[in-house]
Amino acid sequence: MSKLTDINYVKGILSKHGFTFSKALGQNFLVNPSVCPKMAELCGVDEHTGVIEIGPGAGVLTNELAKISHKVVAIELDKRLLPVLQETLSEHDNIKVINDDAMKLDLAGLIKDEFGDGEVVICANLPYYITSPLIMRLLEEKLPISAITVMVQKEAADRICAEPGTRASGAISAAVHYYSEPQLLFKVSAGSFIPAPKVDSAVIRLNILKEPPVTAADEKIFFKVVKASFLQRRKTLSNSLSSGLSLPKQQVNEILAKANIKPTARAEEMTMQQFADITSVIFSGNYLSGK
Ligand code: SAM
Repeated sequence: MSKLTDINYVKGILSKHGFTFSKALGQNFLVNPSVCPKMAELCGVDEHTGVIEIGPGAGVLTNELAKISHKVVAIELDKRLLPVLQETLSEHDNIKVINDDAMKLDLAGLIKDEFGDGEVVICANLPYYITSPLIMRLLEEKLPISAITVMVQKEAADRICAEPGTRASGAISAAVHYYSEPQLLFKVSAGSFIPAPKVDSAVIRLNILKEPPVTAADEKIFFKVVKASFLQRRKTLSNSLSSGLSLPKQQVNEILAKANIKPTARAEEMTMQQFADITSVIFSGNYLSGK
């Protein structure tokens, strides 16, 4: 069992370095001994696969990943954690810690520099304040990675993994399903962390697809349509698309009719193919030119 799941040891090492938890940086550190080995085992890493971890904290997951992978690159924003990590990761010589913001860092460049053409996966217990933008960034940049395994809030996990066309789906479900095949791996109780967050979490794995499941005539328009559709999820598609895309309602109804979709339908009923059909009509009819 890792020393880093011994609450007294972790608290001791953090206080030795004068570290106090920052809520703003989403700092809830894992102390449940079964979670990190399980994440490392299920994230698709082997000795030939490199790993990028976002937010190593005190290094509890980093250590488990380094036992399996030939190289782990961990990106940590909080520089107060660098001396902590230097101490807690000292048993491994295959870990590189980079002090940077995962939202801003050039990830494609980092992968090329650190891993060349080798296989790479991402594995992280994400800071919850940037869950969606960070996942979207990792997917949209079409990075040369095969899977993203992340711990997120349970509610976010349910939304991300929900199949488009079902009640639980949202804009993020459609976006995630465009790039990947999401899978809910296991749940993690709030008591598994110090400090304990208010809600439970879950670990999800996104297996990156080589090709999207539908053909979007224009990806930018596809994502505009998805976003606009869910902006006011209780409203009809006709209303949300009209306000979300700044198009007159009559024009939106014309688009929906051409795509064979009822104007009274709601975003949560839309399949990926129907979002692609709306995109094709808008693209071929030039409805969004100049917008
Ligand atoms: N991996 C550790 C664990 O499981 O115990 C810590 C996870 S904690 C939920 C999130 C970590 O992400 C913290 O260490 C925090 O400082 C770091 N972090 C927050 N925002 C970040 C960002 N924009 N880029 C990189 N790291 C970030």
